[in-house]
Amino acid sequence: MKVTDYFEKANGQTLISFEVLPPLKGGSMQAIFDTLDPLMEFKPPFIDVTYHREEFIYKMRPSGYYEKTAIRKRPGTVGICAAIMHRYGVDAVPHLICGGFTQEDTENALIDLNFLNINNVLALRGDARKFDGRFVPEENGHAYAIDLVRQIEHMNQGKYLDANIDKGASTDFCIGIAGYPEKHFESPNIDMDLAFTKAKIDAGADYIVTQMFFDNQKYFDYVERCRAIGINVPIVPGLKPITKLYQLNALPRIFHIDLPDALVKSIQDAKGTEGRRQAGIEWCIQQSKELKAAGAPCLHYYTMGDADTIRQIAEAVY
Ligand code: FAD
Repeated sequence: MKVTDYFEKANGQTLISFEVLPPLKGGSMQAIFDTLDPLMEFKPPFIDVTYHREEFIYKMRPSGYYEKTAIRKRPGTVGICAAIMHRYGVDAVPHLICGGFTQEDTENALIDLNFLNINNVLALRGDARKFDGRFVPEENGHAYAIDLVRQIEHMNQGKYLDANIDKGASTDFCIGIAGYPEKHFESPNIDMDLAFTKAKIDAGADYIVTQMFFDNQKYFDYVERCRAIGINVPIVPGLKPITKLYQLNALPRIFHIDLPDALVKSIQDAKGTEGRRQAGIEWCIQQSKELKAAGAPCLHYYTMGDADTIRQIAEAVY
């Protein structure tokens, strides 16, 4: 079923969903099950699986020259989606990125997803590779998520790049995209960022999942701004609890977001590792309760493999 159909069927109730990362270096699928097994009692209708582009590493050879090697840190998105659907009977939403894909690669990936009965995708551009400095698309790949949305939408209309593909085999993907309550870091201002987001919706995207945020007012303002420019699709808040001290620096740096002073203080003042974890959990519970009371369509939790933390939050909120 499509993600947007779940929202419609929920009739104003706030759903719950989770996001998992493929295991590091292709490790055991059991890590995914260990994260999700304790969370399935909360009945998420869909689970997202992130996609990770290959990275380059540079090793110095005895000659003094650097050797460039491509490594896949977290392969397996599509297989994990299939395994999740098989084990739990819920929908899986693979993230699909522009980076590393030619348009033909994208078409092939979407045909595979269609055959697996996966009819939801989160369409993203992806970040720059570590040493690239800025996002570099594949030759004949997409430079922006909107181009990926357009390609998926074309396939939904039976228009394939490969003229040999049976036109009757058209797909019917529900397309999610990313949104940034605190603006995407490359955008000069929020209005421009929103205009590009609106363009993705006009190109065929069906719903938005937001970057994590820790101040609900940022989400409420974002939704208001979206509505004001005619973005009327569901906007799902993405939530991540802070559980460790180093995240107070790491999360703003990596995700280009702000942390409220009160949250920083409550984590800093908490006693010990467990005290800090509980302070972060409590903040996330309060955030979740307020978003739920305000009628958010779904609360989407970035699990980062930490089932205990997410479970404690879900128990308090659902
Ligand atoms: P875009 O919509 O292409 O936007 C990128 C930037 O370009 C923005 O600043 C935008 O304002 C600007 N822009 C857009 N269109 C144009 C245009 N036509 N001309 C000029 N500028 C334009 N990354 C992964 O690699 N794998 C994942 O699984 C993953 N999952 C994510 C899930 C969520 C919910 C979120 C919020 C992010 C996720 N990301 C993931 C990170 C995402 O790939 C990065 O944030 C990336 O930098 C931007 O992706 P996007 O789809 O928003 O890009």
